Amino acid sequence: MSDTLVNLRDIRFVLYEMLDVEALTKYDYFADYSKDTFDTVLEAAYKLAREVCWPSYAEMDRVGATFDAKTGETSVPKCMHRIWQAYKEGGWGGETAPAEVGGQQLPACVAAATSLMFNAANTAANMYVAGAGGAAGLILSFGSDTLKKVYVEKLYAGEWGGTMCLTEPQAGSSLSDVKSTAVKAKDGDHYLLTGTKCFISSGDHDLTENIVHPVLARIPGAPAGVKGISLFIVPKYRVGDDGAVGELNDVVTAGIEHKLGIRGNATATLNFGDRGECRGWLLGEPNRGLAYMFQLMNHARIGTGLQATSLASNAYQHALQYTRERAQSRKISEKDPASPQVPIIKHSDVRRMLLTQKATTEGLFALLAYAASLGDKELCSPDEAERLAATDMLDVLTPVCKAYGSEASYDSIVQAIQCYGGYGFSEEFPLAQMLRDCKVFPIYEGTNGIQALDLLGRKVVMKNGAAFKAVLDEISKTVAEASRVESLKDMAVKVAAASDAVGDVTAHLAGIAMGGDIELYMSAATPYLRMFSRLVISWLFLWQSTLAQKALEACAGDENYYKGKLGTARFYLNNELPHLHATVQILKNGERTALDFDEAWF
Ligand SMILES: Cc1cc2nc3c(=O)[nH]c(=O)nc-3n(C[C@H](O)[C@H](O)[C@H](O)COP(=O)(O)OP(=O)(O)OC[C@H]3O[C@@H](n4cnc5c(N)ncnc54)[C@H](O)[C@@H]3O)c2cc1C
Repeated sequence: MSDTLVNLRDIRFVLYEMLDVEALTKYDYFADYSKDTFDTVLEAAYKLAREVCWPSYAEMDRVGATFDAKTGETSVPKCMHRIWQAYKEGGWGGETAPAEVGGQQLPACVAAATSLMFNAANTAANMYVAGAGGAAGLILSFGSDTLKKVYVEKLYAGEWGGTMCLTEPQAGSSLSDVKSTAVKAKDGDHYLLTGTKCFISSGDHDLTENIVHPVLARIPGAPAGVKGISLFIVPKYRVGDDGAVGELNDVVTAGIEHKLGIRGNATATLNFGDRGECRGWLLGEPNRGLAYMFQLMNHARIGTGLQATSLASNAYQHALQYTRERAQSRKISEKDPASPQVPIIKHSDVRRMLLTQKATTEGLFALLAYAASLGDKELCSPDEAERLAATDMLDVLTPVCKAYGSEASYDSIVQAIQCYGGYGFSEEFPLAQMLRDCKVFPIYEGTNGIQALDLLGRKVVMKNGAAFKAVLDEISKTVAEASRVESLKDMAVKVAAASDAVGDVTAHLAGIAMGGDIELYMSAATPYLRMFSRLVISWLFLWQSTLAQKALEACAGDENYYKGKLGTARFYLNNELPHLHATVQILKNGERTALDFDEAWF
């Protein structure tokens, strides 16, 4: 077992040296914080993660959430009650929420760091907290004053749980096909909902006295497609205007999934309104529900990238410790068979696997914390142009955070298991569970295939390509800065060439779309997302390298950390970035084999 869940030094580098989180305290909204208080938050989060959440990681999987078909009740493992209590006592449910509703009002980028810790320790457990916070955020943004008064504080405080209910059996990726309905009640201000939602995370449990479901449904007569979907707040138990919990609200759990991973989190199928008595309250305006839900989903997509990265980080910490301790074989240059075996970290192939994991986890955390910091700017900057620029960057980077974050993390855990050899395959060690847990992240919050369509079909072309170009402009600024540092010039050249190549192939693909071959254009989506992601991570590594090199030149101490950062960046640019150019070539060649492959040939 590793003593460490995540790389705490790297978190501090990203927050304080790269993103200059302290500068956020100049905004009124964060004025109560300082570097010291951020440190206190990080220490408290790590203590909770390490001492309460992590020791229950295996139990959450072994026992899992259970459903009793006779009583219709869903239970979480016992350890989850202790974790929930600790989260409540620490006020972790409302980390980024405004203080006026009981939140800690923390910058999102600091919360990204605590999220990395909590999810590394026990991601299935953290999902219950995220569910409640997500529902609260929707009500806070779009709810009436009464809804806000009744629900928001209780959700952030962990008195009640929360979910997000989008998926239906016939409407997974295709949310335009949602069929649940909501009919305005003849008496009162509520609607009566009917329908089935499936795969609902934290959908039912025995942690809280109530569970609050934001539910997508159609009001009769609404337009077809996504423009006819509204959003409702549906509690498991009805709640009076005074917040008192009353009778069941005709929300019935049909069962929970038996899953590959995250087994401690109850993934429920919920039937709404079987008896015609399920009351829901409209959030905001009718037919704007999906747009509202996207506020939560965009946030959740970055959260999904963080969940995946946190598991990969923990797996890497385990692999690092294991390869330092496990002795096997001798160095190739050692001819004496009687000489002692060496720790496997001395073998170059093992170092390659470790560096792949180090680069993946550090590169992804830099991306995710940067994305979160854009959210902080969106929220606080007094400069409108800066706020809009942050929104555009975040829009383009969100599918990268979710899809590349989840895919690269999964691959990274595979490498961690490989470092363990046969022991990695055994459930006695936690890596097998990490791999199983990680597999859901490329699937939920919009599959990675859907993220790729979002990137190429919407984000790259939005505002006539201006938002996409803004990302390339930021990359150019970093390249210019790195070019002034002698030892980084070669790296700057590589990132500049990659950025040019991506700009070039994007223009080439735009020509295909404008020529009318939309099928060919969109068939490029997944390779395009992977290619663009490699550029983004390389850019962030170049940015980090500039800082690390300057710190070394200034003799700032911590030499091993900074040299390690430079080596990791160089490893990524030398080994991962070149794949980008192969993809550029494939896309420029107009690859269409999968499109033209006749179904009968499969
Ligand atoms: C553990 C777990 C927890 C979940 N939690 C929640 C939750 O809390 N709330 C909620 O609402 N949902 C939740 N989901 C549901 C999840 O969001 C959906 O499973 C996901 O959106 C995919 O939908 P689907 O399963 O119907 O797959 P499908 O939509 O059938 O997709 C199957 C495959 O087809 C591909 N595909 C589909 N359409 C296209 C297209 N147009 N172009 C290219 N490829 C396409 C997909 O990328 C995928 O690879 C959860 C799922 C799981 C497994």
